[in-house]
Formats: sequence, C-alpha cells, structure tokens
Amino acid sequence: MAKQPMLKFVTVGRDMPEKRAAEARKDDFHEIYAEFAAQKAAEQASRCSQCGVPYCQTHCPLHNNIPDWLRMTAEGRLKEAYELSQATNTFPEICGRICPQDRLCEGNCVIEQSGHGTVTIGAVEKYITDTAWDNGWVEPITPVAKRDESVAIIGAGPGGLAAADVLVRAGVNVTIYDRHDRAGGLMTYGIPGFKLEKDVVMRRVKLLEDAGVEFVLNCNVGRDISFQDIRAIHDAVLLATGVYKGRDLSGPGAGAKGIVPALDYLTCSNKLGFGDAVPAFDSGELNAEGKNVVVIGGGDTAMDCVRTAVRQGAKSVKCLYRRDRANMPGSQRETQNAEEEGVEFVWLSAPKGFSGDPVTGVIVQKMRLGAPDATGRRSPEVIDGSEYTEDADLVIKALGFEPEDLPTLWDEKDLTVTRWGTVKAAFGTHRTDMDGVWAVGDIVRGASLVVWAIRDGREAGADILASLNAARAVAAE
Ligand SMILES: Cc1cc2nc3c(=O)[nH]c(=O)nc-3n(C[C@H](O)[C@H](O)[C@H](O)COP(=O)(O)OP(=O)(O)OC[C@H]3O[C@@H](n4cnc5c(N)ncnc54)[C@H](O)[C@@H]3O)c2cc1C
Ligand code: SF4
Repeated sequence: MAKQPMLKFVTVGRDMPEKRAAEARKDDFHEIYAEFAAQKAAEQASRCSQCGVPYCQTHCPLHNNIPDWLRMTAEGRLKEAYELSQATNTFPEICGRICPQDRLCEGNCVIEQSGHGTVTIGAVEKYITDTAWDNGWVEPITPVAKRDESVAIIGAGPGGLAAADVLVRAGVNVTIYDRHDRAGGLMTYGIPGFKLEKDVVMRRVKLLEDAGVEFVLNCNVGRDISFQDIRAIHDAVLLATGVYKGRDLSGPGAGAKGIVPALDYLTCSNKLGFGDAVPAFDSGELNAEGKNVVVIGGGDTAMDCVRTAVRQGAKSVKCLYRRDRANMPGSQRETQNAEEEGVEFVWLSAPKGFSGDPVTGVIVQKMRLGAPDATGRRSPEVIDGSEYTEDADLVIKALGFEPEDLPTLWDEKDLTVTRWGTVKAAFGTHRTDMDGVWAVGDIVRGASLVVWAIRDGREAGADILASLNAARAVAAE
C-alpha cells in the first residue's frame, strides 16, 4: 500500500518560513519572511488532515481547493499544485503573502481547533506560485480567439486586474484607465514592500500587458477623460476605483503642518522604493527620519505606517489607538511584527488636539471601554482629567477610508450609490443600476481586502463576458 503522505499534524509541528530578525529587517523594505525550502514546504503541507468538509476552503473568499494542492505539494507534485491553485486565484502568490490568513483560511483550519496549530496555508500557496514563476510554469496569456468588443476598466487595482485577466483570456479588447503612473492600485502604492515586494506585482502587470491589455495611466477619469466618453467608446465599463477619502481628525491644531494622511505617506515611501524622486520626501514633509512619529489608528494601514517610519530612521514611533489590543481591527501578526521592530503601542488613547504649528505634540486623552455599541464592540469613553502631551514632529492620520463621491465627481447622477457612498452593485454579477456598467472591490464593499477584490473581479469578468455573448447572440438572430 502507498505510504500515507498526509495527516502529519500530530508528529510535525507548525512552522512558518524563517522570519528575518527585527534588527536585520528594520533598515530595509524587503519582505521579512524567507521562502520555504522544498522539503520544508512538503513537510508543512503534509500536516493537513484532509478533512471531509474543508472549512479552510469555505472561508477562503476564492474557495481555493486548499486540501488538494496541499496534498500535491506534500507529494512533490508542485506543477500540478500550481495549476490547481491558479485555477481559482488570479494572484495566488500575492494572497499567500498578504491575506489575513488568521481571519480566513487558517483561522478555520480543523487541526488548529484540535490544538495542533494551523497548517501554514498562505506560506505554502506563496511557495507553490513563486516556484512556478522560477520554473517558467506561469505561461503567457494567449487569448483563444480575438473578439471585436472592448471593455473599459477604471482602476488598475486587484479588482480591475482580475477582471482584465478573465476578459483578455477570452479575446476581448481591454483598456484599463488609472490615475496613477503605475498599475496595481494599493498593491503598488499602499501596501509597503516589507509585506509585498513590488516586482511581485509588476510581473503580473507585465503578463497582462504582454497579453494585449492596454494601460492608460496618469489618466484621472472625471478630469482627463469623462466617464460618459468612456461609456461611449467601449461596449462595457467596469468600475474598480477603490476608496481613497481618508477620514480626518478634528480638535484644536488638527490643521497644523506635520499632520499628514497615511496614504500620502505610504505612497511617497513606495514611490521612493521604485527610485522615483518625491519632492515631499526631499523637503522632509513625508520623511520620518530623526522625528518623533505618532500614528493615529489601529488598523492595518496604521501598522504599515509605523513600520515604514521605523525603516525611515524615526527617533521614536508610537501608535495611538482608542481601544485596547484585543479590540483593534489590525492583524495581530502585523502588530507583533511592529512591536518586534521597536514600535510602542499606546492603547486606550485618543487625540484631543495638537500643539504647535508645525506640530510639536499630540494632546492625548486616556479612554476606558464602556458598554457595547450597536455593533457589539465596546465603546471607548473619555477618562476626565487624564490629558497629557506626547512629543511629535510627524503625526500620521490612519483612521480609515471612505469612498469619493463618484456621482458628483463624474457628473453622473444615474450612478446609484448606497448611503455609505459605495457604488450599488448586484451580488454575484456586480452589475450596477446603469446599463453596461459593473463595479467591484472596495468601491462596492468599502475598505476591504485584496482577495475579495480578486473574487469580485473574476466574477464581474465572467458576467461581462456572458453579457457580450448574449448581445452577440441577439445580433446574429
Ligand atoms: C495601507 C494599506 C494596507 C493594506 N494591506 C492589506 C493587506 O495586507 N492585505 C489585504 O488583503 N488588503 C490590504 N489592504 C486593502 C487592499 O489593498 C484593498 O482592499 C484592495 O487593494 C482593493 O482593491 P480595488 O481593486 O478595489 O482598489 P484599489 O487597489 O484601491 O485600486 C483602485 C485603483 O483605481 C484608481 N482610481 C481611483 N479613482 C480613479 C479615477 N477617477 N480615475 C482613474 N483611476 C482611478 C486608483 O489609482 C487605483 O489604482 C490594504 C490597504 C491599505 C490602504
Ligand atoms: S487566497 Fe487567502 S484566504 Fe484563500 S487560501 Fe490563499 S491565503 Fe488563504
């Protein structure tokens, strides 16, 4: 009988790829985890219990066939593992790096629930696809047959790119408009290199370019070209514009120089990583070097800002959050990484105002957690008389993002939005209320995750294709 390659979770412990020591990693923007060695990947994959109802697969937004590609990895059948993995995920190596696995696939791993530590699904997914790239298994996209129809995609983030992949494979002409000078959306200019190195994103963009996808960059729709003109020249339009309106601070001094939005700060840092000149960095405005930095917020954007400030050589880096560690929205893994790199978390603290202009300090008031609110989370309450000042020469606002007002910006009253300002689109098909217009990703969901944008993009691409086919069938009658 063949040797059983799986179910090793009782004898083999959970192990992540090697993580660079904090001292070694905090001066550069390279990823902090090394790649698994082949034997290690096979060993870790072999821990999977191959359970009959794989909750990991259910809780992966793409419903990746995780148990099967883990088994293939354990058996050394890596090319097959790659083929299976890429069948459901447009960018598996990106998800393997940046999905919050503890809340998705790994958080629902059955062996974790029996106390053995989850299978390292994300790390294996990354390993499989990085190996595929290294071995030339990631093939150029070759459309089956060229079609006449053209689809416009507004926004080159993961949602737009995933839809483009589906459409260009089917032979449709795809044009992607983006206001940035590079494609990738937040994967390029939001998420720092220490979580996701940029050549990993750029080789995906190149694959689409080589397949014939046209990228119209530095093109702000609503300013450089109207939404109405785009609709007029394409057969279908997909909105994948993300959410970019940063929530603001109030209180005395909130407008002082030296208080900057998180995304300006992270975009600047990512542009520097590409070797671009950034005047706001050269002037010191978006440079943390030698400064006391205070980041306000407790989500993943705040974690990315504090860790970027460490790498820029800040004198001190503190993260101010109004709830406690157990109630923060950011991932525990990233918080731990930040702490290892020297970031100090000031829990149960909120800014009341700011001193100086340029800013010299944050006036902090301490909070306690009161009764749960309508969402079930305990609301922070101010502790009277608890104020003190934290020194700060650079304050970064990382309080979350909201959608821009697209109907006004694009002068398009027929584009229906929800009461939160997100574009209204049908579940599953992603059709908006406007004929021939679809919408995906953060602009529909609100600030979310790369993996959800990929899922939406894949579904919308398939539905646009179905709609083009239906129109063809009618025309042929
Ligand atoms: C700092 C930060 C860190 C994050 N970390 C993670 C993480 O670790 N893991 C994770 O899963 N998710 C993370 N996210 C969330 C994730 O990046 C988003 O959910 C995802 O990128 C959304 O994809 P999208 O395609 O909807 O939009 P985006 O990626 O935002 O792309 C939208 C694109 O549309 C373009 N655009 C917008 N308006 C216009 C216009 N008028 N004309 C032309 N182009 C336009 C933008 O330039 C952009 O390129 C993070 C987000 C941030 C801000
Ligand atoms: S795509 Fe994300 S959630 Fe799905 S298996 Fe990969 S890492 Fe897990």
